[in-house]
Amino acid sequence: MNDLLNRIDKNLIKEAKVLLSDSTKISIIPHSGPDGDAIGSSLALYQYLKKKGKQAQIISPSAYPVFLKWLPENSDVWIYTNGKKKAEEYLNSSDLIFIVDHNSFKRSGDLETVLEKATAKKIMIDHHPEPEPIVDLMFSDVKMCSTCEMMYEFIEALGDENLIDDRISECIYTGIITDTGGLSYNSSQPRTYQIVGSLIANGIDKSKIHSNVYDNFSPDRMKLLGHCLDQGMEVLSDYQAAIIKLTKEDLVRFNYKDGDTEGFVNYPLSIQGMKMSVIFIEKDDVVKISFRSKGNVPINSVAREYFNGGGHMNAAGGRTDLKLDEAINLFKKVLPDFHKTLEEK
Ligand code: 5GP
Ligand code: MN
Repeated sequence: MNDLLNRIDKNLIKEAKVLLSDSTKISIIPHSGPDGDAIGSSLALYQYLKKKGKQAQIISPSAYPVFLKWLPENSDVWIYTNGKKKAEEYLNSSDLIFIVDHNSFKRSGDLETVLEKATAKKIMIDHHPEPEPIVDLMFSDVKMCSTCEMMYEFIEALGDENLIDDRISECIYTGIITDTGGLSYNSSQPRTYQIVGSLIANGIDKSKIHSNVYDNFSPDRMKLLGHCLDQGMEVLSDYQAAIIKLTKEDLVRFNYKDGDTEGFVNYPLSIQGMKMSVIFIEKDDVVKISFRSKGNVPINSVAREYFNGGGHMNAAGGRTDLKLDEAINLFKKVLPDFHKTLEEK
C-alpha cells in the first residue's frame, strides 16, 4: 500500500519520529464526551506506543458510553473528572501530548486550561475542519473518514504497520464505523477499504464489533428512541429538515445513561427528501445539539454561527445556554434563510 502513502507528509513524519524518540512519558487526550473514533484512535495509539516501549496514558476529559467499554485496554483509560490531581500530575510530567480527534482546546472540556498551560511538545492527529495552531506537529486532514483512519496511516508512515495487531485493528475499525454510520456516509475513498481490508486480514471479527457497537440497547434506551420519533420529532417538510426535542423529564422517564441518545439524530434522515436533522437535548445547565445533513448541506455552519459549535459538513454539534424551546425557535428562525442558500447552489 506504500504507493498510497502521500496522504501523510513525509517531512512531518520525520519530525514525529524525532519527537517520539525524545519522549518516554506520553499523554493521549481524546475530546470531551468522546465517541467511538476518539476512544478507538486513542486506544490504538496507546497500544502502539506501549509496543514501542513508551510509558503512555490516555486521559479522557469526561466519561464515554458503555457501548465502547469492550474495546481492548479500555480499562486503562483515566477519566479526568474522576481523578484530576493524578491526571494533572501525569500530564505535567509528560514529554509529549497527543491531541486526538479534536483540533481546539475548547473541545478538551475540563482539560482546556491544563492543556493550554502544559509545556510538553504536542502532536495533533485529527480530521476536523479548521484546526487551530495549538500543537508543534499537526496531522490533520478532512479527507480522512475518521481519526482512526488517520491513526492507521500515521502508524504505517512511521514504518510500523507490522505492529498493528488484531487488538489495535479492532480499535481502528470501531472508529471507522462509528464516524461513518457503519461505512454509509463520508466513506467513499478506495483507500478506506484497503485499510479495512488490512484490519480484516489482521484478524478482527467484524460481526462481533458491529454487534458490540450497535446491538447494545437497554430496553429503556429503545423506548427512549421510540419516544423521540413518536412524540419528540417535528418534520419541517418545506425545509427538508426534522427536529427532535428531548426534555430533562424525558431523560429521567427513560432512565437516561451517557451515550443513550447516540445516533438518534440520524433516524429522521431516513424520511424521504430529508436533508437535515437536528436533535436538541436538555441537560442540567445547557442544551446540547447534534446536527446531521446529507450531501452538499454545510450544517456545521449553523452549528458554528448560532450554537457555539462546529464539526464536519454533514455531522456537527453545539450547545447553548438558551432554554430548550428558545434554542429550537432560534433554529426555526434561521432555517428558511439557510435553506434558501442551499437552493441557490
Ligand atoms: P455529535 O453530534 O456526535 O456530538 O458530534 C458530531 C460531530 O460534531 C463530531 O465530529 C464532533 O467532533 C463535532 N462536534 C460536536 N460538538 C461540537 C462542538 O461543541 N464544537 C465543535 N467544534 N465540534 C463539535
Ligand atoms: Mn472523528
